[in-house]
Amino acid sequence: MKIAIVADIHSNLPALTQVLASAEKAGVEQVYCAGDLVGYGPFPNESIDLIRSACSGVVAGNHDAALAGKVGLDRFNRAGAKALRWTKKMITPANADYLRQLPMRIVREEFTLVHASPADPDSWEYVLSAAEAQEAFGAFSTRLCFMGHSHVPLIIGEDMSFNAFRKDCRFLVNVGSVGQPRDGDPRAAFGLLDTVEWTYELVRVEYDVQKTAAATVEAGLPAALARRLLTGY
Ligand code: ZN
Repeated sequence: MKIAIVADIHSNLPALTQVLASAEKAGVEQVYCAGDLVGYGPFPNESIDLIRSACSGVVAGNHDAALAGKVGLDRFNRAGAKALRWTKKMITPANADYLRQLPMRIVREEFTLVHASPADPDSWEYVLSAAEAQEAFGAFSTRLCFMGHSHVPLIIGEDMSFNAFRKDCRFLVNVGSVGQPRDGDPRAAFGLLDTVEWTYELVRVEYDVQKTAAATVEAGLPAALARRLLTGY
């Protein structure tokens, strides 16, 4: 079975729509979301609606938790906090309730799904280095752990190999970001797992970046959030 893992949508509906179309075209049967449905972008309700209808499982990201009142806005930079205040005004009560009940972790036969490090989900730590990965590997027991949070795609093996997916090793996989990539490639990103062949690939998808950038400015959100979509940083 082919499974798509999406993360860090950040209210970018044009990117999410293209990603889900691409996943369907690739023969994906199930979609999972590693959190941060909202924040930064201009389409929070539409993005939540689409994730709710498309996904078999969704975990909370730090922006989702902030919307639910579980994380203080002082944990975010100025643009991020401003976008969260804007989102709080725009979000429907039903969608706010939906974000509030999202779990921190989902465990399936093949993988664990979290937003940040599985070692201590509530502290929203990044997994970027071998040392951080070592701690994280002790905190899940499946072959794979999918995550988001950094918006930078990464594959770390339990043997501390980087970006070399194989069948005979456990891996921590950051699937990159649908709605705000930060690896210098402005295209939307998602992860594609084939549970039969046991292969994993990162897929990049073109979308109408200008549309989201223009809507970001029109909504009165910080212009820097629109500009970074164009460069992918
Ligand atoms: Zn994020």
